[in-house]
Amino acid sequence: MTATLIDGKAIAAGLRAEVAARVKSFHAKAGRLPGLTVVLVGDDPASEVYVRNKGIQTREAGMISDEIRLPGSISQAELLAVVRKLNEDDAVDGILVQMPLPKQIDANAVIAAIDPAKDVDGLHPVNAGKLAQGMKALTPCTPLGCMILLEKSGVKVAGSNALVIGRSILVGRPVAALLLAANATVTIAHSQSRDLAALCRQADIVVAAVGRPELVRGEWIRPGACVLDVGINRMPGEGGKSKLIGDVHFASAREVAGQITPVPGGVGPMTIACLLQNTLTAACWRSGIDPETV
Ligand code: NAP
Repeated sequence: MTATLIDGKAIAAGLRAEVAARVKSFHAKAGRLPGLTVVLVGDDPASEVYVRNKGIQTREAGMISDEIRLPGSISQAELLAVVRKLNEDDAVDGILVQMPLPKQIDANAVIAAIDPAKDVDGLHPVNAGKLAQGMKALTPCTPLGCMILLEKSGVKVAGSNALVIGRSILVGRPVAALLLAANATVTIAHSQSRDLAALCRQADIVVAAVGRPELVRGEWIRPGACVLDVGINRMPGEGGKSKLIGDVHFASAREVAGQITPVPGGVGPMTIACLLQNTLTAACWRSGIDPETV
């Protein structure tokens, strides 16, 4: 059996087009455009690429995109002051502080300083708490992307056994909360879990968010299961170039799985598309508009 590939690139493009159309509808109702501000601290090359792509895709969706670039030497107090100013700026619907932050900055304090209503990364404890309680919340983008991939691929989540490997606040925990909210029976594995292979064999859905290249082997996968590979591991490739490898051993897993995401081109493209969706949702809620109506 060879798994069907879940084309995250195409599904993300469809979502971005949908958001762009909804932005027009929001504009007609609210008389303004949603605005996203990304704060980039320092000059990490990978972060530069992400921020540039976020800016391009935000503008393509018809929203206002702003970037604030700050030196890597900035103090905690100065960065918190920037966040507070954005909290007070009515034209800003979404604030995203690009991670990782320099060592002198307490990332949790920065996340906690963001107005939860503008927390389009969904990492603020208020949003994480709401998600854990099954309430409406701004939800972390990659986990939201995973759920959309499952939905668009026709995967039956309710009643399924779902295994999430990884328990970070960015991916593992929120994707587990979303799967639970969608009525899956959820197991969360982490670095102390015993016999990951046995846990995998019971799973109808496997979400690998570990950061260990090719950790999950094809022989662990239950025949016909759906495998979402969140991992992005940059490895040395041919000709001195780097290549991206997932947390799943793709060649062996695709022989067993029913559906599988490739790396790249699977979960990755969904993240920015969901950031755009979250920005629109935040703009709607801040304007007293039901997002379902735009
Ligand atoms: P993270 O914060 O480093 O968390 C990794 C998790 O994996 C931890 O919970 C850790 O357990 C667990 N783990 C480590 N080794 C393990 C093992 N041998 N068996 C089982 N669990 C193990 O990473 P993250 O931020 O969640 O990201 C995970 C991966 O997704 C990375 O490759 C990252 O680059 C990628 N990612 C991709 C996107 C995207 O847009 N596609 C977005 C975000 C992240 P402990 O808690 O016990 O340490």
